[in-house]
Amino acid sequence: MALNHSGERILVVEDDPVFRGAMIDALGLGGRAGEASTAAEAFTMAIRDVPDLVIVDLGLPDGDGAELCRRLRNHENTAGISIVVLTGDTSEGRDAACLDAGADSYLAKPVKGPRLRSYVRALLRRRSMMSRRKSRPMRAAGLEFHYKSKVMRLGEKNYAEFSPREFEVLYALALSHPDPMGRGEIYRRVWGLEPPSDDSLRTVEVHISRIREKLGPRAREKLATVPGRGYRLV
Ligand code: CA
Repeated sequence: MALNHSGERILVVEDDPVFRGAMIDALGLGGRAGEASTAAEAFTMAIRDVPDLVIVDLGLPDGDGAELCRRLRNHENTAGISIVVLTGDTSEGRDAACLDAGADSYLAKPVKGPRLRSYVRALLRRRSMMSRRKSRPMRAAGLEFHYKSKVMRLGEKNYAEFSPREFEVLYALALSHPDPMGRGEIYRRVWGLEPPSDDSLRTVEVHISRIREKLGPRAREKLATVPGRGYRLV
């Protein structure tokens, strides 16, 4: 796996060898391995030797990069990694589809080296800041959140059925407690971007309703809707 100068592990998934080489150079990854040219190869590499960040080209010879994002998000080894999608397809709705598939952010080709470098640095910086902050449990509204294990505790009961995104939504609400958080703000916090469309806001609603299902009758009331303002923990 390729390491940059600060020791983070980056996997570049791109079938065009010239473009792949240019990205590896731009990221300062030198001649070290950490490249894949198909989705299948990338998936096998990533679950075996887990990277901090994956850069995924959307047009891969054996399938759609968005599908690779989904597979990485759904695998326990790679559920928490950062994923940046690169694409030449800037058609409307495509960005939302990538984010819904689990990408953290989205860059349109052609990407200039310095821009890619600063983007990747910012993502990795945020990631290491968050992981330091998240190593201890956080308490809000009588609930306890264990970020690493994605477990929420209420009294003696553990709630551990959340997907990584669902847990991120709960965690964002815990951070803003006692203030409510709107759908757009939740999207910005959890998905790391401006909500690209109304579909993204509906994505937040779908996550909220799945979380409530998983909380069950006893804990469901902890996640309240605040009319006109969003959601809050109570
Ligand atoms: Ca391609």
